[in-house]
Order: sequence, then C-alpha cells, then structure tokens
Amino acid sequence: MKTPYYLIHKEVLDEGMEKLKQAAADYWPNTVIGYSFKTNSLPWVLRYMKAQGCYAEVVSEDEYALAEYMGYENIIYNGPVKGRDSFERACRKGQIVNIDADREIRWLQELCAAQPDRTIRVGIRVNFDLEGMCPGEASGGEEGGRFGFNYENGSFQKALEKLQAISGVQTEGIHLHCSSKTRSLKIYEAIARMACRIQTEFRTEFKYIDAGGGYFGGLANKPQYADYLRIMTAVLKEAYDPDRTTLILEPGTSLICPPVEYVTSVTDRKETSRNYFVTTDGSRIHVDPLMTKKSYFYHIESRGQEGQRDRLKKQVICGFTCMENDRLFELKDAPALEEGDRIIYEKVGAYTMCLSPLFIGYFPAVYVEDQGKIFCVRQKWGVNEYVQKSAEEAAFHI
Ligand SMILES: *Cc1c(COP(=O)(O)O)cnc(C)c1O
Repeated sequence: MKTPYYLIHKEVLDEGMEKLKQAAADYWPNTVIGYSFKTNSLPWVLRYMKAQGCYAEVVSEDEYALAEYMGYENIIYNGPVKGRDSFERACRKGQIVNIDADREIRWLQELCAAQPDRTIRVGIRVNFDLEGMCPGEASGGEEGGRFGFNYENGSFQKALEKLQAISGVQTEGIHLHCSSKTRSLKIYEAIARMACRIQTEFRTEFKYIDAGGGYFGGLANKPQYADYLRIMTAVLKEAYDPDRTTLILEPGTSLICPPVEYVTSVTDRKETSRNYFVTTDGSRIHVDPLMTKKSYFYHIESRGQEGQRDRLKKQVICGFTCMENDRLFELKDAPALEEGDRIIYEKVGAYTMCLSPLFIGYFPAVYVEDQGKIFCVRQKWGVNEYVQKSAEEAAFHI
C-alpha cells in the first residue's frame, strides 16, 4: 500500500458505537443518534452509520442530497443555511427540521398557506449564553455563539410564538448543540439546564430534546459517553418524562476521530545551517487542514535498526506541500529518521479527510482494516477526478 493513506480500524469504530449505544440504553432508552455528516462524510462511513441505525445529521442542501443518495430514511436537518428545495422536501417527509433562521419561518408560512391540510413538525434551535454558564469554555467566547434564536434577548420566544401561530406547524423539539473548547461535562449539564428552563417557562410539550454533538471519544482520561449521559439525564428528568421525550445526540468527532490513522513515509532528510529537516509524503493538510492543532498523536515505525543510528538533538518533521508551515512536529534527542521510515498519525478521523484541500496532491486512498483484513474504500484521487466537471475552454451554458 502506497503512502500516504488513511486507515480506518473498524473494530475501534465498533467499540465506540457500542459504548454510545450502551450509555443511551442505560440512561435514556428513548435516544436517537444522528451522525454528523460534516465531521466525516466518506461514503463508507455513512453506510456504516446507517447500518448502525443512526439518523443522518446534515447542515446543507448538498449534505441533505447526500443523505438521500445514501438511502437514509431518517434525516435531521440543521444549520443556518438550508436550501429551500431540500427544506420543503424534509418538511413534507416528516424529517426532523430544526429551524435556525427567520426565512425558514417564512418558508413554513408559505408552505402551510399553499397546503392548509398538512401538518409539519419542526424543532427550533436555541441560542443561549453558554459562556455565561461555563466561563471560558464556549467556542464563541465573549462574542457568543451565532446559531439559533437567542433565549436571553427574547428572540427565541418570538420565533416560538411565530411558529405556534402558523396553523399546520407543530413545534415538537428544541435543538441545543453548542461547540465548546473543552467538551466538558459542565457544558452538557448547562445544555440540559437550558432545556429544562425552556420547558418550565414556555410550557410547550416538546417531544424531543436535541443535545447536539461535541463529545470526547476514545480517550481514557476524558469523559465517556456514560458520564455525559448520566449528567444530562439527571438534569433533564427534572422537567421531562423519559418515556415521552426523545433525546437526540449528534456525535461526529467522538465516533469517527478515534479509529482513523494517517500513514506516511519519510522521503528525505536534510541538514541546513539552522535545522535538520525530515521530509515526508504526508502533509499537515491531511491531519490538520485548518492548521490549528498544537500537537498530534503519532508513532514511528523504523525501517531497520534504530540502535545503529545517530541520535539527533532536533528533527523537524515536514510534509509534501511547498508551504513552509507544513511542519508537523519536532523530534527531540531521537534516532535519525531515514527514508522509508513510517510516521503514523492516530485519531485523525474528524474534520480531516472531508476538509482537506486538493492542494498539490489529490485525495489519498482510504483503507479499512477489519479483523486483520484490509479493504480499499476510496482509491487515491488522480487527474481524472481532479478535472471532472471542469472545462478547459468556455463550454457551459449558464
Ligand atoms: C458539528 C456539529 C455536530 C458534530 O460535532 P462533533 O464535534 O463532530 O461531535 C453535531 N451537531 C451540529 C449541529 C453540528 O454543527
């Protein structure tokens, strides 16, 4: 197998899924899992999640179409910019549509006016002051989150009243996904508290609470699914009946980050007056496309005898692109790396293969390892895939 490539360990994926299902069964049996497409939408992964009984959690017209293409019967449609066609299709089919914008309320008014005998069930996304409840932890920080209708300034109430005034629309759920810097238990306690506050204040009989995603997964020293579920359900039980309320979870990272590796090879090493560089055929753009991570999980497989090699004070491991900042990590006081050595990055399944650019090298192959056998689930992209749908001369009528 030619490097670089991604390798998905199916048994690790199975194990995470099993833990999630067990935690749900233990704490809130009436739970639905919506897999977050945007986190990793490789077709093999989407097929796997569907086979596991997950709903599709999508946030755009394209993702909605992908969920349909993959044969998902149950779709959760979120996001601030839904397409009108897919929005109406989702409403008609009784999918879970969480309203996130005024224009969606207007679309509902128009849809119901055109077809008065239809019932459309929707949810509403809540924007609330997570940073106030968990100082220093919310992704938006002092600037606040930008999704949903704000609870504190009355926008949520207004949106709820507008939805309740449309005959034919039933507001059945609230969506409280928040991204955080910490993925801490406190975040999910705050989400559950907010769900209870809304229930007590507005006395609407919500049929579902959507707690969103953002959990840790596969890290022994971090919270587990059971911890998140324990803390959320203890709070939710103060205002909701577990037999009559569905809890929706939308995991992405916690499921698909742990089982994926990225395998690269050393191609060259060179010494400069200032440094000792190790070049590899992999790149930071494949494990950290947004160039924000400060460190990576990795291990090194040396070809041949490490013991006989010189030890170097510092080696800078670099990628194949021609960007100076395509530097992955530094090795301190370690045996010199040599051509053919492998560097394998671990836990790189989230926001990597679906977010990487087609920059200098095209998409690498993806393999799945299952009980010792290896299957290819995406061939490496080449020029044919790169040029598809492009014309070299003016050719498309608009
Ligand atoms: C991104 C996102 C998720 C998944 O988040 P992870 O951190 O990958 O678990 C779930 N729900 C919504 C609405 C999202 O935007």
